[in-house]
Amino acid sequence: MHQEFPERFRVPCDGSFRVADATTALPEDDHDDPKHRRRLKKRLAKANDRLYDLQRVLYADNRYALLLVFQAMDAAGKDSTIRKVMSGVNPAGCQVFSFKQPSTLELDHDFLWRTSARMPERGRIGIFNRSYYEEVLVVRVHPEYLQGQRIPGKTGGEDFWQARFRSIRDQELHLATNGTVILKFWLNVSREEQKNRFLERLDNPEKNWKFSAADVNERQHWPAYMACYEEMLNETSRPHAPWYAIPADNKPAMRVFVAETIIETLESLDISYPRPPAEEFEHFEEYRARLEAEE
Ligand code: ATP
Ligand code: MG
Repeated sequence: MHQEFPERFRVPCDGSFRVADATTALPEDDHDDPKHRRRLKKRLAKANDRLYDLQRVLYADNRYALLLVFQAMDAAGKDSTIRKVMSGVNPAGCQVFSFKQPSTLELDHDFLWRTSARMPERGRIGIFNRSYYEEVLVVRVHPEYLQGQRIPGKTGGEDFWQARFRSIRDQELHLATNGTVILKFWLNVSREEQKNRFLERLDNPEKNWKFSAADVNERQHWPAYMACYEEMLNETSRPHAPWYAIPADNKPAMRVFVAETIIETLESLDISYPRPPAEEFEHFEEYRARLEAEE
């Protein structure tokens, strides 16, 4: 039944994706098996090395940008995934942005404005920790947030959300057409595992700072969030901007899946170190001789 990784986590583009069928943990993922953990650690280390190499080529080639979007319920592990997957990649070639409640300045603009201004440049990897997708998730679950956006006309109806999906699809198609490669990860954590992680934040003094009462309240809206995720994934997974529903209950496995998906995508691009123009190349021997002749 399982297709080869990473296709097996790719959200199809035909609207058939169901959250209820998406796995949060793989049967082969035994959290406590030390051999399995060691294997995953090795796989991630290998992926980190490969990403380091590929990022250098992406940068030198300087035609494509890579946009990585991360969305998830709280405590799914967005931050640590970004940290561990990108560790080893040259920080100069990487830009990470986190999007929280919009500021008053941001609310004075359309909902794509703040992210548009932060799209990765050619040759760079841009990472969005949350994104414009919050606009069809948290804002849809709490439509009262729309009041702060001061959009004229009727907001919050079915047509309104469909128009947002259309705006997002249009923007992503535009970006892809102009050289931005887009990968979107939904880190799919189970409600049960989220509870365990919140409890760990209460119990572990080093994690107390991460605890937020608001997160516990938000958890009460789980079914509404899942309904919004399902529609969002179906409406916006496209061949040029696919969503991946990554099982998130086992963090080491999740990081490997994310890293290997990025690698596979970069490997599929026609990128290479640029060759100097032939005229320049002809003079290489001359330059070499000059440098070697220096005192
Ligand atoms: P952490 O792991 O540190 O908790 P976080 O991404 O959850 O990271 P928080 O400051 O806890 O950061 O939460 C940011 C909050 O901002 C989230 O609840 C998110 O839903 C909310 N948010 C993001 N974008 C929007 C938006 N456009 N409108 C309203 N709320 C938003
Ligand atoms: Mg939070």
